[in-house]
Amino acid sequence: MPRSLAKSNAHFRRALARLPLGVSSNFRYWGDDKTLYVKRGRGARVWDLDENEYVDYRLGYGPVILGHCHPEVDAAAREGQEVGTVFALSTEREAVVAELIAEMVPAAELVRFSNSGTEAVMAALRIARGAQGRDGYVIFEGSYHGLFDAVMWQADVESLVDPSLEPEVLPYGLGVPALARQLLWHLPYNDAARLEDVLKRDHDKIAAVLIEPILGSCCGIPASSEFMHAVRELCTRYDVLMVVDEVKTGFRVARGCAQQLHGVKADLCTMAKAMANGYPISAIGGREDVMRRCRSGGVTHGGTYTAGGMALAAAERTLRILRDTEALARVAAYGRRLQEGLTRILNARSVPHCYAGHPSMSGLFFREEPPRNYRDWKRSDYSFYDTLAQFLIEGGILCEPDSREPWFVCEAHDEACLTKTLEVFEMGVDRTLETLRAARAEPAGKEA
Ligand code: PMP
Repeated sequence: MPRSLAKSNAHFRRALARLPLGVSSNFRYWGDDKTLYVKRGRGARVWDLDENEYVDYRLGYGPVILGHCHPEVDAAAREGQEVGTVFALSTEREAVVAELIAEMVPAAELVRFSNSGTEAVMAALRIARGAQGRDGYVIFEGSYHGLFDAVMWQADVESLVDPSLEPEVLPYGLGVPALARQLLWHLPYNDAARLEDVLKRDHDKIAAVLIEPILGSCCGIPASSEFMHAVRELCTRYDVLMVVDEVKTGFRVARGCAQQLHGVKADLCTMAKAMANGYPISAIGGREDVMRRCRSGGVTHGGTYTAGGMALAAAERTLRILRDTEALARVAAYGRRLQEGLTRILNARSVPHCYAGHPSMSGLFFREEPPRNYRDWKRSDYSFYDTLAQFLIEGGILCEPDSREPWFVCEAHDEACLTKTLEVFEMGVDRTLETLRAARAEPAGKEA
C-alpha cells in the first residue's frame, strides 16, 4: 500500500503559517508534500504523524549512537534534571565528564563544554586565534563546520569551466558578510602540497587549520591517513594549530574518535553528536597550554546553558556505555553487514558502486571509486542516488534524500532492521533502474 502523508502534509500547512518553510532548520524541509513530522522514535525506528514506520539511517545527522530514547541515557538525563537546569555556576559532574573525555581522547588534555557543534567549533577557532595571536584559518572544500559566518563558505565548482582554474569561494547563502571571506584560506581536501604552499607563504597570518577527518556532510569522503599525518606535520612545522572537528566522527568511529584511527593528536578538537545520544552538549578539548588561555584577560568562553545538568548527565552515561561496552564494535559490524547486503543486491544487477567513510557513517556512491574530494564529488553523477533515495524513504528506509549525507548506524539496528532494509533496497534499486531507463528512452524536448 502506498505511504500516506496526509497528516504530515496537513501539519505542514499549519506549521507554514508560523515557521519559515514549516520547520526549524532549512534542511528539514523536503518539499511541500514530502516534509515529514516525527511522532516518536524508538531504537533504530521512527514513526511519522501518519504512523508510517521507518528504519532510521539519519539518526538526527548522527547523534543517536545508541538508538532513540535509550532507557539508560534517558534515565540518567532525568536524574541530571533533578539537580536543576542552570545555575551560572558549575556542578561536580563537569569535571567527571571532562575526565572521561580526556581518558578517551588523548588530545583533550583539558575540556570546555558548549551546547552544539557550531558553538564548539566557534569556541575552538576563537581559542586558536587567541593562543596564536593571528586571525586567519584554513578550511577544506566540502567541509561542514556548522552555521556561523567564518565557516559558511563553499567552492563554486559548478561554474568552473576550466577545471585547472581555482573555483570561486561563495557564501552558503545570504547574510554571510563578504568581509568574513578575507580571513579564510579555502583549500582542496586530501592535498597536502596545496596546504604546504599556503602555510609556507602565509603561516604568520594563520592561527589554525580546521579539518574534518571524514567529510561528514559530503558523502563521508575520508581524509587519507597520509593527509591527516601531513596536516599534523605541517601544522607543527609552521606553528599553526591543528583543529580536528570531530563533531560527527567523535565517539562514533572509535572510542578515541577519528584521531585514534589515524594515530594523530590534534592541538584542539571538537566533539558533539554521539557524546550524549542526542542531548544538546558539545565539547572542546585540547592541549593544556592552549586551553588554559580560557581565562579572564585571555580567551572568553562561556554561555548561559553550557554544561546544563540534563545534557551533561546524558553525556556521562553515553560516554560510559561507549567506553565500557562493545557498542561501537556492534555499530561498525552492522554497518559492514549492511554494506555487504547492499553490495550483493547491486552486484546482482551490475550496478557500479562503492562506499566511503566508516561503516558507522558511510557514503554510498554509484561509481567504481569514491571521490577523493569535493570537486570530484560535485562533478559526479548522483542521479542514481537521488532517485533511489525517494523509493527507499517511500518504502520505510529513512536515508537522507541528499546524497551528501552519509548513512548513520546506531547500536539499536538489529536483524529485523537489516532484513527490512535489504528488502526495500532491492525493490528500490529495480525501480530506480526502470525510472532511469525510461528517462533515457524519453525523446529529448518532450516536456517542452
Ligand atoms: N561540525 C561538523 C563536522 C558537523 O558535522 C556539524 C553538524 N553537522 C557541525 C560542526 C555543527 O554542529 P551543530 O549542527 O550541532 O551546530
